[in-house]
Amino acid sequence: MGQTKVILGNPVDYLTSLSPENPVLFFAPHALQAKAAVFIGGFPGLVTYAVKANPADAVIENLAAAGVRGFDVASPFEMRLIRRLVPDAALHYNNPVRSVAEIAVAVDLGVVSYSVDSMSELNKLIAGVPASGVEISVRFKLPVGGAAYNFGAKFGATSELAVTLLRKVAEAGFVPSLTFHAGTQCGEPRAWASYIHEAARIARSAGVTIARLNVGGGFPSQRSKAVTPDLQAIFGVIETVTTEAFGAERPALVCEPGRALCADGFCVATQVKAVRDGAHVFLNDGIYGTLTEFASVGATDCVQVISPLGEARVGAQVARPVFGPTCDSIDSLPDGMPLPDDLAEGDYVLFHGMGAYTTVTNTRFNGYGDVSVVTVLSLMS
Ligand SMILES: *Cc1c(COP(=O)(O)O)cnc(C)c1O
Repeated sequence: MGQTKVILGNPVDYLTSLSPENPVLFFAPHALQAKAAVFIGGFPGLVTYAVKANPADAVIENLAAAGVRGFDVASPFEMRLIRRLVPDAALHYNNPVRSVAEIAVAVDLGVVSYSVDSMSELNKLIAGVPASGVEISVRFKLPVGGAAYNFGAKFGATSELAVTLLRKVAEAGFVPSLTFHAGTQCGEPRAWASYIHEAARIARSAGVTIARLNVGGGFPSQRSKAVTPDLQAIFGVIETVTTEAFGAERPALVCEPGRALCADGFCVATQVKAVRDGAHVFLNDGIYGTLTEFASVGATDCVQVISPLGEARVGAQVARPVFGPTCDSIDSLPDGMPLPDDLAEGDYVLFHGMGAYTTVTNTRFNGYGDVSVVTVLSLMS
């Protein structure tokens, strides 16, 4: 991926003056910093950033500039990235499965918090990490809905196992905490409420006062023009329910959003390569590129279409099959995407809210995926 430092006004200015033939990811630092301010101002605890959503230097640097001081890292690569860009930041290593070699790197880089969801992995931590002042958060799961897909399928202990793990964490001299992940793109405040109540029950059954409750990521970004996610409502429920559930034993709160922090700071401009026989739309980007998540989370409808000269296409919306550029037949966008009926070859289709899980999963399959990143003052024209 190329990175250009050129600052232009907005995507439409760029597209009409340079007519790029490859997808372009536009980045508006002020939009990213504004979202960080919403979290830091609204969330009743420590805001950390889940680096995997978008590890670009510019993203990390702008979040640090906006006041983010903690980072959820999943690998030695991510730890070193944060140590290089924000040397004094708190590293929270919340990938619950680690090799012995990875644990050694974490100790060396001064990780202050780990999460765990199994006895075998807890034993590895106890053997490899000096306990003093280091937190271990037990990650548990619940069968709750409201998210785009189920995060409990891969990680999270049952409540019963969580009780046993939490006791053992405390006995081994680590700072005992609990954590969960409600599932990505979760717009349902009640999901957090159920998890927080369960956390209080687990702590009580274990007879352990937890230091912190990390309520994970999963906060929603805007993926539909009709629904603006209500982050303040989710923050409010987290605040109220934590007091209600824990009373005098109330732990400090931590969150680790990925998507909701970085999605809105970016949009992707793709180009229409062809409208085959007036029906099938072929874009220069697809599910092997920056649109990967459309297959698992669904397509965004925050879409803007312009002609090569920058005129808005305002025709009636019609659902059409839309394909990515590779020769693989699964490279198609789901469910007949609504696009204006005056759409034509050469037009640009802009998808907004595309900062998360786009660059990281972009591939060079079939020779596509040459995405450049361009910094702009504003994402809207
Ligand atoms: C991926 C992940 C996150 C971020 O999730 P989002 O849905 O992007 O907010 C946070 N915590 C952990 C442990 C994760 O694996």
